[in-house]
Amino acid sequence: MILKKTSLRMSVFLLMGAMLVSCGGPAAETETKKPDPGYPSIGVGRPVSDAPGEDTGITICIDPGHGFDDVGCSSDYLEDEKEEKDMTLQYAYALKAELEGMGYTVLLTHDGNTFPEEFNSYKNNIFSADERAAYVNSLDVDYFVSLHCDTFDEDDSIGGIRVYYYDSPIKTVTYSDAVANSISAHLAKEFPDVKAPSVHDNQSYVVLRTTTMAASLIEIGFISNKNDAENIQNPEWQEKFIDGVAAGIDGYFSLYQ
Ligand SMILES: [Zn+2]
Repeated sequence: MILKKTSLRMSVFLLMGAMLVSCGGPAAETETKKPDPGYPSIGVGRPVSDAPGEDTGITICIDPGHGFDDVGCSSDYLEDEKEEKDMTLQYAYALKAELEGMGYTVLLTHDGNTFPEEFNSYKNNIFSADERAAYVNSLDVDYFVSLHCDTFDEDDSIGGIRVYYYDSPIKTVTYSDAVANSISAHLAKEFPDVKAPSVHDNQSYVVLRTTTMAASLIEIGFISNKNDAENIQNPEWQEKFIDGVAAGIDGYFSLYQ
C-alpha cells in the first residue's frame, strides 16, 4: 500500500512535534543531507531510476541481515528450512519496493547472490558487518537500515519488534534516534493490539556504530517465539510491518521536503 503523503505528512508532523518536545528536539537541529546527482556505480545496490513516486531526493540503503555462508539465526518455526538470512532478504525487497513507491532511491547492500567483492577484506563468503559498514560509508546515502530477526532460546515467550539506533560520534547527522522513534510510532499504528515496538539506544551493533549516516537496525521479531515466527511468515503481517517501517522513515524525512 502506498500511503497518501498529504494526510500522512500532516499527521506525522503533529506526531513528530509532540515527540520532539519529549526528546529534546535533536532532529530540529540537523538538516537532511541531499545526495549528489551522480550515484555510485559499485556493488549490487544500484538505484532504480524509474520509481513511480515523486522523487524525494533521499537515498536509503537497506541491509538484508546475514546472507551467503552466514545464515543468521535458525528456528524450527521457520518453514521450508528457511533461515534468518532468507527472511531478511524477503523483507528487504518488500521494503525497497514500498520506499521506491514513495519516491526514495533505494540501494541494497547485497541481493542474496552477490555482494561488493572489493569490500570483502576477509576474502570469504561472508559479507561481514564491518565490511557492510565500509561499503555503505563509501556511498552517498542519507539513511541506512539493517533488517534482522531475533532469537532467545532460553525463553521462547520473549517476542516483539525492536528498533535500535546509536548516534555514534562519527555520524555526520544526529537524528538516528528521531527516525527510530518515528518507525516505532508508525509500527504501533499498524499493530494497535500489541505492545508498541521498543526503541533501544545500543552501540553494540557494528552497522550502527561505524556507519556515518543516520541508521537503524530493526529486529523484525523473535523466530524463537512461535507467534512471532508465524507472523513473520504471514504475508498480511509482512505488509503491515513494511507499511509501518516505510511510513516511519517517510514520517521523518518528509518533514524536510
Ligand atoms: Zn541477525
